[in-house]
Amino acid sequence: MENEVFYCNICNKVLHPTSEELKCIYCKEVSVADYTCDDHHFVCENCRLALPEELVLKTCERSEIKNPYELANLIMKHPAIPIHSPIHHYLVPAVLLTAIKNVGYDLPPRAVRIAIKRGKRIPYGTCGSWGVCGAGAGVGIAMSVLTGATYRSDTERSECLDASGESLLSISRLGGPRCCKASVYASIKSAIGLLEKKFKIKLPSNFEECPFSSNNVECKKDKCVYFKGGHQN
Ligand SMILES: [Zn+2]
Ligand SMILES: [Zn+2]
Repeated sequence: MENEVFYCNICNKVLHPTSEELKCIYCKEVSVADYTCDDHHFVCENCRLALPEELVLKTCERSEIKNPYELANLIMKHPAIPIHSPIHHYLVPAVLLTAIKNVGYDLPPRAVRIAIKRGKRIPYGTCGSWGVCGAGAGVGIAMSVLTGATYRSDTERSECLDASGESLLSISRLGGPRCCKASVYASIKSAIGLLEKKFKIKLPSNFEECPFSSNNVECKKDKCVYFKGGHQN
């Protein structure tokens, strides 16, 4: 095993041994690293072993990333996040709320925790079985946490329904089979549009290409708008 080569899960460059002090790309804690890549990416031991919910919460609470696509991709590159899974349902509101906070807006207390708790309750495969993709519903969750909507609200309730509805339409237009990554990207795109239109909240929206196509056996490749070079934002 001496010559086995390991690759950075962030940039795919070769990892090499080090004794530098580096900041963990997820939790931001500084520790003596054992391995790093040429770009000095480092994932601390706690984050390497973290379960998905803990990873999403910790990363979002400490991140300064303003672009929700970038934050979602960073989290989705962690090996604890499978290509397809219900984790994507709470990932969407968590990264949207974090990006909103990071461009300078105050969030209600424990906003990301509340969003994760709500998104976690959406089971696997509801895109096909309910006609409600959990990532799309995640935009409604983000909007609800942001506005404090309840089932008794007037405008805020409508805003949440619009947010989920528009997001679900954009996912529907992608066609099938389901791809949790594409659903996350379409949900984020829909949310960015809505946040700007209704709340004048402008989030960065640049997106280059989906980095997960080679790990997804069901990837639709050039039939997907998020496939390499195919996406127009
Ligand atoms: Zn790297
Ligand atoms: Zn860490």
